[in-house]
Parts: sequence; structure tokens; C-alpha cells
Amino acid sequence: MTLVLLERADDELSLQALTLAHSLGGEVRAVTVDGPYAPSAWAAAVVEAAGGDDVVGPGSDRGNEVLAHVAAQLDLPFAANVTDVRGDELTRIRWGGTLLEEARLHAERKLLTAAPFAFAPATAGDVTVLSAPSDGSPRVVEHVAPDTGGKVSLADAKVVVSGGRGVGSAEGFAILEELAGLLDAAVGCSRVVTSAGWRPHTDQVGQTGTKVSPDLYIACGISGATQHIAGCKGAKKLLAINADREATIFAHADYAVIGDLHEIVPAITAELRKVKG
Ligand SMILES: Cc1cc2nc3c(=O)[nH]c(=O)nc-3n(C[C@H](O)[C@H](O)[C@H](O)COP(=O)(O)OP(=O)(O)OC[C@H]3O[C@@H](n4cnc5c(N)ncnc54)[C@H](O)[C@@H]3O)c2cc1C
Repeated sequence: MTLVLLERADDELSLQALTLAHSLGGEVRAVTVDGPYAPSAWAAAVVEAAGGDDVVGPGSDRGNEVLAHVAAQLDLPFAANVTDVRGDELTRIRWGGTLLEEARLHAERKLLTAAPFAFAPATAGDVTVLSAPSDGSPRVVEHVAPDTGGKVSLADAKVVVSGGRGVGSAEGFAILEELAGLLDAAVGCSRVVTSAGWRPHTDQVGQTGTKVSPDLYIACGISGATQHIAGCKGAKKLLAINADREATIFAHADYAVIGDLHEIVPAITAELRKVKG
């Protein structure tokens, strides 16, 4: 039997985890946990409800965190971001989506999370609500949104104008800011940019930065390293502006402009100003 932890009964990644659970065969029970988020307390509730069953969770930050606590409490191995299970063998995604690892689980019970978007969502059906024990462990009591100075935040923006090393300097971002202002967009950047101190780390997109999923991602002077793509592959459309026609970013782009961003970005801004009057 398998117990599935749902973050919420309508959460897409959780419903994908349900599909992974069904693929293991046998009966599946779905649970959510009531109350404020507290990973070790949620894990304790899941451990108690699971009895001796396998446990599957969503491949979200919370899913992976709670399952890690479940594994620690049960002293069992845990496989995160799984795409396929064949008996005690499985495939899982590692290194920000750049590696598919074949692994073997050396345990009687499986503790897994489903790789995001590797499974179609299932229908939740009956969901049991568990109460987390109040064990004094840290809890999230409040979410405070960062002060974006009235600008749209990177994670929520419908359009992101992002700059890489090709922008050349902190001052070079002024033309990206201008374009972003017209599009009601947020400004993002690559790690080279944050490492150089041109922009704060909160603006970084990628594996070790923010993961964005806007309608449009405009990558200016960004080469398209896998660690950067890991943060913007959720974008519906990607427009790449790069001087190098061989740049990797073009393999991911829906629209490509080959040329100097210092000419192209102001030209786009000027055209937009004409259209907007
Ligand atoms: C563990 C790890 C985690 C990482 N995490 C991240 C991450 O979260 N986010 C991230 O971004 N990177 C991350 N990196 C770094 C990543 O590997 C790349 O080094 C980085 O993304 C490259 O940044 P870039 O594209 O700005 O620079 P470059 O790779 O140097 O590319 C600059 C591009 O600009 C173009 N260009 C230059 N001048 C112009 C111009 N005038 N007009 C138009 N185009 C021009 C060039 O042709 C080139 O393609 C990580 C690396 C590691 C090892």
C-alpha cells in the first residue's frame, strides 16, 4: 500500500505524485496535513498515518522537505524527483534537470517524490486530513512579501527582461529597466551578473536563483547555460537577443535576434513607445 502526501487536494504537483503512487500498484491513500507548515511535525503525522506503507509526495520544495524528514524519522533512504519506478530500481532527475540517474533503493519501503511534470495529474478522490503534532518544532507563522518598491516581483511577472554578461556593467541594465518599465516586466539576470555585483542575488534566475514562469522571457546577452535555463524553462515563450549566432540560448528560444543588445533593446523600446503613443 502507498500513502500519498498532497500539499492540497487541488495542487497540481500533488496530483502528479498521486499518479506515481498508482504506478507502484496496490491501494493508494491520499492525505493532507492541517495547520501551519512545520516540516518535522508534518513528517511525524505522515509517519504515523503511513504505518508500514510506502510514502510518496510531490516534487515541490515542501514535498521534498517533508519526505526528507520522514526518511530521517524512519531512518530509511529517500529518492527525490523520481520519473519512473521498476521494482526496486528507479530513474530520478538530478542537477537541475541536466542528469537522469538510474538508482536502486535498498529498503523494504519506498519513500519517493515525483519529479514535477513527469506524470499526468490524477483525480484526488477521498483525502484524509491529518493533524500535525505540536512538537515545538519551527513553524511558518507568516509570509512577508519582499518590498519590490511597487514593481512587479520576478516570481510573479508576466514578462521578465533578463540580462547576462553581455550587458557589460551595472549601468548597462538601464536599457533593460526602461524596456521592463514599458512592459510592466521584472528585471532578472544571470549568475555572472550577480557574481560581478551588477545586480542583487534576488534578481538571479536559475538553478541557484529564482525559477520564473512568465508568458515571455527576454534573455539579453545570456549564453544559455543549463543552470540558467533551469530557472527560465517554465516560460511560455523565450526571446533571445545575443551577438553570437551559435549561442546555446537559441536552441531554447521561440524568437531569436542576433546582434548587439545595446542597439536592439533600445530599438524595441523605441518601437513600443511609438505603439503606446
Ligand atoms: C552549481 C552552479 C549553479 C549555477 N547557478 C546558476 C544560476 O542560478 N543562474 C545562472 O544564470 N547561472 C548559474 N550558474 C552559472 C552558469 O553556469 C553560467 O556561467 C552563467 O549562467 C553564464 O552567464 P551569462 O550567460 O550571463 O554569461 P556568459 O556565459 O559569459 O554569456 C554571455 C553571452 O552574452 C553574449 N553577448 C556578449 N556581448 C553581447 C552584446 N553586446 N549583445 C548581445 N549579446 C552579447 C555572448 O555571446 C554570450 O552568449 C551556475 C553554475 C554552477 C556551477
